[in-house]
Amino acid sequence: MGKIISRLVKQFLSESKVRILMVGLDASGKTTILYKLKLGEMVSTIPTIGFNVETVDYKNISFSVWDVGGQEKIRPLWKHYFKNVEGLIFVVDSSDKERISEARNELHRILGDSELRDATLLVFANKQDVLGAMSVDEVADKLGLHALRQRCWYIQSSSSKFGQGLYEV
Ligand code: GDP
Ligand code: MG
Repeated sequence: MGKIISRLVKQFLSESKVRILMVGLDASGKTTILYKLKLGEMVSTIPTIGFNVETVDYKNISFSVWDVGGQEKIRPLWKHYFKNVEGLIFVVDSSDKERISEARNELHRILGDSELRDATLLVFANKQDVLGAMSVDEVADKLGLHALRQRCWYIQSSSSKFGQGLYEV
């Protein structure tokens, strides 16, 4: 993660702001990751018509984080956060086999947004510490990552609870 951030910083030094979105189903570990990264003060807000967004501004990078899944009504509101996104981080609970197909659907739906056409995708196959968790390969497979065309993506094994895998990227 450190390397990704510094690379992005270098790459976009001339630009005023780099935007990274971190999304995933609820309880996948996003908030834990955000805390573990210790990027600065995290602010939790419910903008205008209500979905909870956590944001952290770190140097010229802005992180926005929220839960995806269900919530058809609020989806149109996400658009606002899709503008100028350089990196999409998708967090998966590798131990949640029941909801992996829901995670897959959400991921592909988000990736289908034209605003995110050029965004790099980083997937955290999180909760690797849980006994019986799906392996990184299995998560990649179940998410259909190999079927992605013209998308720069990377999947990283992580255990945000123990701070593992977050800094290696
Ligand atoms: P969010 O809804 O995606 O923001 O998920 P949270 O960060 O709130 O985490 C949901 C729950 O999963 C919390 O109880 C966390 O402590 C736990 N959790 C997060 N990451 C991990 C992990 O890597 N391993 C394990 N075992 N639990 C985790
Ligand atoms: Mg959260």
